[in-house]
Amino acid sequence: MNVRHAGIGMTSQRTRSRMIERLRTQGIQDEVVLEAMTAVPRHIFVDEALASRAYDDVSLPIGHAQTISQPYIVARMIEMLRNGKQLNRVLEVGTGCGYQAAVLGQVAREVYSVERIQPLFKRATDSLKELKARNVILSYADGTMGRPEIAPFDGIIMAAAALHVPQALLEQLAIGGRMVLPLGAREQFLTLIERDEKGFHESRLEAVKFVPILTGKA
Ligand code: SAH
Repeated sequence: MNVRHAGIGMTSQRTRSRMIERLRTQGIQDEVVLEAMTAVPRHIFVDEALASRAYDDVSLPIGHAQTISQPYIVARMIEMLRNGKQLNRVLEVGTGCGYQAAVLGQVAREVYSVERIQPLFKRATDSLKELKARNVILSYADGTMGRPEIAPFDGIIMAAAALHVPQALLEQLAIGGRMVLPLGAREQFLTLIERDEKGFHESRLEAVKFVPILTGKA
């Protein structure tokens, strides 16, 4: 255990199990997702001062005016993305602290996650290294461009809200693939996009509150 997080060591497994039970009561049913969230320590990804709240169902500040998403939203998005099937190659736009990327790393063969704020990218790189999450590959770039050289992806997750689905990301979604993202400005809805041979199908899920997607690097 890293000294930085030693203080929470004895209780983290128990508080993590409580978080999993809460996710079940909130309606998360995919055992693969619940197992993944049991496996990934969430307190590694937040500042030590906030570590005691890491397993509460809240979003927490991670600096640079950004937040770590609340556990329920992470679970819900990955459950929608998986749709009960094994994921091969996944793209995440908005690494932030890297927590969701680490959970994705447990359920997909390869995860590519892109972050536009350099200090967050660096910190997430360290945290994922600490967890030895070798199938999670981070990059520092504007994620709305996707990773065309690695596409297609059978799953794409956006961790920041957009007004429209970035065209580049639609193009990088595999046939049979799924994309989950928050859409909208002041009023946002979690949105599922499914691609088949005929085209794209969009369904609107619950109301959510995400930070906005921004363009360019910072
Ligand atoms: N996935 C995170 C949540 C991150 S919050 C978690 O596990 O909790 C959203 C992140 O999206 C922020 O870090 C923000 O900097 C990033 N972001 C916003 N616009 C972006 C863009 N165009 N490309 C890449 N990252 C972006």
